[in-house]
Amino acid sequence: MALAFIGFGGNIGDTRQVITDAIVCLALRRELQILAKSCFYQSAPVDAPGGDYINAVVQIETELSPYGLLNVCQNIEQAFGRERPYENAPRTLDLDILSFEGVSQNDTELTLPHPRILERSFVLLPLLEIAPDFFLPSIGKLKAYLPQVANQRIEKLPCRNCNCQENKTYSQSSH
Ligand code: ADP
Ligand code: MG
Repeated sequence: MALAFIGFGGNIGDTRQVITDAIVCLALRRELQILAKSCFYQSAPVDAPGGDYINAVVQIETELSPYGLLNVCQNIEQAFGRERPYENAPRTLDLDILSFEGVSQNDTELTLPHPRILERSFVLLPLLEIAPDFFLPSIGKLKAYLPQVANQRIEKLPCRNCNCQENKTYSQSSH
């Protein structure tokens, strides 16, 4: 079994509902278990057209290979109507494998850890919310990279149905 983190994002339609439903689809797969889910975040598009994104990150444990997990993620994207008219186009749903335990590779089809993990507040903040001490051997502690994304607009959205906002949460201003 390997631990992995998956980033969810989208900016077409009711993305919060889409991501909620997509996480249910993921949870129904027998080959993996969801261990943690971040709150939702609303972020400005980075180097991309379109409206604000909604983002979240989940941690899973899986017996799948990295490519097996990529296949599952791409099937879920397709099921929610993902289209790719051009690079960085607005999207209903994007699933990126942020890291896969013990795997470091540079294949175009699957780069691990994800190459932009350190450059995006919409990845770092939700990931650090569920794994505050997350560490990558080649990179070190991820929280050290928060200052570099401090200029990227992002807001943690209040949870609708639970009180997790009342717990101590991760914010850029406090780190
Ligand atoms: P974006 O870079 O905006 O997420 P896409 O979702 O269209 O763009 O992905 C483009 C390609 O990136 C996919 O065909 C996939 O094979 C590849 N890719 C490389 N590394 C990863 C990764 N870690 N997670 C998901 N897709 C990846
Ligand atoms: Mg993607």
